[in-house]
Amino acid sequence: MELTVEPWADAYQLLPGQTCVVVTHSPTEDGSWSGTLRRDEPFQVDHRRDSVTVWANGNCFHLSDMAGGAIDAADWECPVQSGDPEK
Ligand SMILES: [Zn+2]
Repeated sequence: MELTVEPWADAYQLLPGQTCVVVTHSPTEDGSWSGTLRRDEPFQVDHRRDSVTVWANGNCFHLSDMAGGAIDAADWECPVQSGDPEK
């Protein structure tokens, strides 16, 4: 099973039965989302037989396992971790 997180095109191999959590944060202050197919949709998930593609509409993504352990992240533009919402 392959998980791809777009638009970063980061691919991860998932073990059978492994579940992971993808979090993204909205770039806008009111927490709205541009959406892909519908408005206010933070994710678009494209599920095929042996792969999953997650399109995140936020500025960042944080990938972790079910226990909360971080697997990977693309968080250099994360509006939450940057710490200063004025920027
Ligand atoms: Zn973030």
